[in-house]
Amino acid sequence: MSVRQPVHCVVRVALDLPLRRLFDYRCADDQQLSSADVGYRVRVPIGQRQRIGIIVAVGVASDLADAELRPVLEVLRDQHPLPDAWFRLTRFCASYYQAPLGQVMLATLPGRLRALAASRTLVRRRPVHDRAPAPPPTLTTGQQMALDTVIADGAGFHAYLLHGVTGSGKTEVYLRLIERALTAGRQALVLVPEINLTPQLEARVAERFPDAGLVSLHSDLAEAARSRNWQAACSGTARIVLGTRLAVFTPLPELGLIIVDEEHDSSFKQQDGVRYSARDLAVFRARDGDVPIVLGSATPSLESWANAAGNDGRGRYRLLSLQQRAVEGARLPLVRIIDTRVEKTQDGLSGPLLLAIEQRLGRGEQSLVFLNRRGYAPAMSCPACGWVSGCRRCAANLVLHLADRCLCCHHCGYQTRLPRQCPSCGNQDLRALGRGTQRLEMILAERFPQARLLRVDRDSAGSRKQWAELLRRIHEGEADILVGTQMLAKGHDFPNLTLVGAVAPDAALFAADWRAPERLFAQLMQVAGRAGRAERSGEVLLQTEFPDHPLYQALRRHDYPGFAAAQLSERRQAGFPPYAYQAMLRAEAPRMADAIAFLAAARDCAAATAPAELSFYDAVPMRLSRRASMERGQLLVESPSRRVLQTFLTDWVTQIEALRVPSRLRWHLEVDPLDL
Ligand code: ADP
Ligand code: ZN
Ligand code: ZN
Repeated sequence: MSVRQPVHCVVRVALDLPLRRLFDYRCADDQQLSSADVGYRVRVPIGQRQRIGIIVAVGVASDLADAELRPVLEVLRDQHPLPDAWFRLTRFCASYYQAPLGQVMLATLPGRLRALAASRTLVRRRPVHDRAPAPPPTLTTGQQMALDTVIADGAGFHAYLLHGVTGSGKTEVYLRLIERALTAGRQALVLVPEINLTPQLEARVAERFPDAGLVSLHSDLAEAARSRNWQAACSGTARIVLGTRLAVFTPLPELGLIIVDEEHDSSFKQQDGVRYSARDLAVFRARDGDVPIVLGSATPSLESWANAAGNDGRGRYRLLSLQQRAVEGARLPLVRIIDTRVEKTQDGLSGPLLLAIEQRLGRGEQSLVFLNRRGYAPAMSCPACGWVSGCRRCAANLVLHLADRCLCCHHCGYQTRLPRQCPSCGNQDLRALGRGTQRLEMILAERFPQARLLRVDRDSAGSRKQWAELLRRIHEGEADILVGTQMLAKGHDFPNLTLVGAVAPDAALFAADWRAPERLFAQLMQVAGRAGRAERSGEVLLQTEFPDHPLYQALRRHDYPGFAAAQLSERRQAGFPPYAYQAMLRAEAPRMADAIAFLAAARDCAAATAPAELSFYDAVPMRLSRRASMERGQLLVESPSRRVLQTFLTDWVTQIEALRVPSRLRWHLEVDPLDL
């Protein structure tokens, strides 16, 4: 007599583990699961522990024997199940960026939904403002044309690149598009690079649409608020979601529009864990969901610009351009180049710049002195023996922070008290090497003792609160001279600011990274855009030893298209992105030899299978060759065909995972790397 074993329903679950596979469980007898349960979270045993996972399939045939299957402990139905569109997006993300699916899926959820204990949270509506919202302005011709173009294309998928000079009113275009989406009963997703730096956008959206249940999603939110907001988005209560890169994954049942503001910003790229580009995923999402997407910037990434190039219908993106400032009479600032070989600087400041600041002080206007390097000085040194303050754990110098009386590593966070004497020879006369924002602030304070100075960088404006307070002080005219890093460059109107001085932009001009000019141009253009936003016209002074450099000349003409065309033709000749597709394999280990040997082995194991259209560079130490006591190496892989690269990578990753790896070696693969 044979006894029939009960056959259980098998559930396939994604778990947050660094493994490229899913996990099968069986339903308990009292759990009637069906395909309608796909997308719910479950609690399951794994090893000795329990984890939260996501049901990706029900009723599948498992490779495991029925007796080997462990049971699902609990199905969590406190949230809406994750929808199909979310599955398609996370699957695409995992396959494109070569990341384990479970890791991608779980990483997109708010922490509370990943940890145990399901949360039942209330959706709290944003308080409605007492203030009557300002009436929307009459659109400029450029804004109207941009809007009309989008409207004429209809509600389906179209990708637009909205290129508008600073102050041209891109935000107003976003607002009108959002309005249309809301009126059509759809939700809008707005992605911004760093929410801390763009409180004005959030405020403007909230003011214009007080009843849209606007929620924001970013990593600074407390966990409870984040899952509350996420839930409001999933349930459709929130009609507008404003968030940073992770928000691209938020399920939105009635998505009708995606906007990516400052699309060129590298913050859209996740730099650890799953290294995805939220901007690129947003484009996938728009196409998949058949909705329009608008990428906006005054200085688009060259990738996006190339996609929009032509604008004769052949480009993948449609170009919308706003060439004039929106406010009546507001002109772009006059850019003056100061040749510091002729106009010698003292303490880093040239005569013309000092004079210009003095004039602003006399007129009661604000000046901004831009230096993209925080701290007092980038290093400390001993003139007697040549000692320089290096970080013991990194291939980098310790930065002098005089206010905190410490030397500090900006890469690993190491801090040490300011030495009274040279650690190497005992000399007591140590010097600060070079200049950072703190030192510049002190120099300016000595020069202009009557002026009120305000320094804005990550040290003075690290938190959202500090930043908001600094912004308030700037707006209320409590500062005459601002000293700041690129933090100050992002999306702010300072109506009384009429002068911007860039004191040391040259360093980035000849950097090893071929993307450096693109970043420098964007930074200078953005910071220059702060000058003269209202009726007062502004002036930008650039101190340089290379006054004829094409980058500065393009800047002087506010000529982004000219700059982009020159850069793209260089890149085409050199075979760099966007004319090639790249992936970077990086390894770190206590010894450089191990990291390089691993990379070489990875390269060798692919030699047999690598297609002809694929090329490998050499395995080399990274530019920052040691960080936090780990030696770092990298191996670049490149192909003119994205598909060839993708197919290759999928095989390659499994080959790499099969390699024998020294115990303390860590590696990762990054697709479309930004830092080289
Ligand atoms: P951008 O984002 O392109 O730098 P903003 O959207 O911040 O520019 O607009 C710059 C300024 O112009 C803001 O003060 C905004 O209120 C104003 N503005 C925008 N559109 C108009 C318009 N059509 N008429 C008048 N002012 C406008
Ligand atoms: Zn010394
Ligand atoms: Zn360090």
